[in-house]
Amino acid sequence: MSAEYAIDGSKIKTRAGEISYSVIRGRYTKLYFDDWNELSITTANPVIDNVNQIIARHIRWIESNSVKLRDKVKLVNANGILHMGMRHSAHFAYGADGVEIIGNTIFVSGKDKERCARNLIDFIANESETECKRIAEELKVSMNVEFSQIRMLNASSMWGSCSHSKTIKINSLVCMLPKDLMRYVVCHEMAHLKHMNHSKSFWKEVMNVCPDYAILDKKLNTYDAMRINANDLVRLHVDGSW
Ligand SMILES: [Zn+2]
Repeated sequence: MSAEYAIDGSKIKTRAGEISYSVIRGRYTKLYFDDWNELSITTANPVIDNVNQIIARHIRWIESNSVKLRDKVKLVNANGILHMGMRHSAHFAYGADGVEIIGNTIFVSGKDKERCARNLIDFIANESETECKRIAEELKVSMNVEFSQIRMLNASSMWGSCSHSKTIKINSLVCMLPKDLMRYVVCHEMAHLKHMNHSKSFWKEVMNVCPDYAILDKKLNTYDAMRINANDLVRLHVDGSW
């Protein structure tokens, strides 16, 4: 496929659609898509000619990733943040540190927007940890496995991992997923305590406690496991009370 595209202001027009981009000055050339599917280009030399050359060099990567990301369910997007699979709008307000969910809104307070974003990330991580530990305690009995500890993975694009020392690590954003997927993630890693591979025996182990595992595994892949960062969460807040 030959890359045919045109650059128009802050947009790259490709056959697959328009991709917005922004340019940031930084030491190394780096390209990534943020939670709004906007391309961010970091370069030491942010003049138009150089940026155009970077785009030309990476156009295939840009196009294919943009298409891939468009089909994924984003944990955070312009409409809000997922919690247990439900999209919630975020409301940030000045006040003592706190997070509360009422209906489809997450109310976050803190001394400034950045602190609110931090409080929200911490809240998600705490919920994930509590939920995962609860699920693991339940599965431990039915799967007849022992683990040494459960830890949270921060800023990872993996949903989970399991080590030879029987430590299970689960992504700290896991409580943003629907409950059945969260349970599947924990179940998958716990099955690795018995089989450190994806063999038939491994899947059989998973199936014993998670009969829908094949559907769940497919469903999990529709979620974008991309890391979220505080800067992106700050953008969630739309009301002008600051
Ligand atoms: Zn696995």
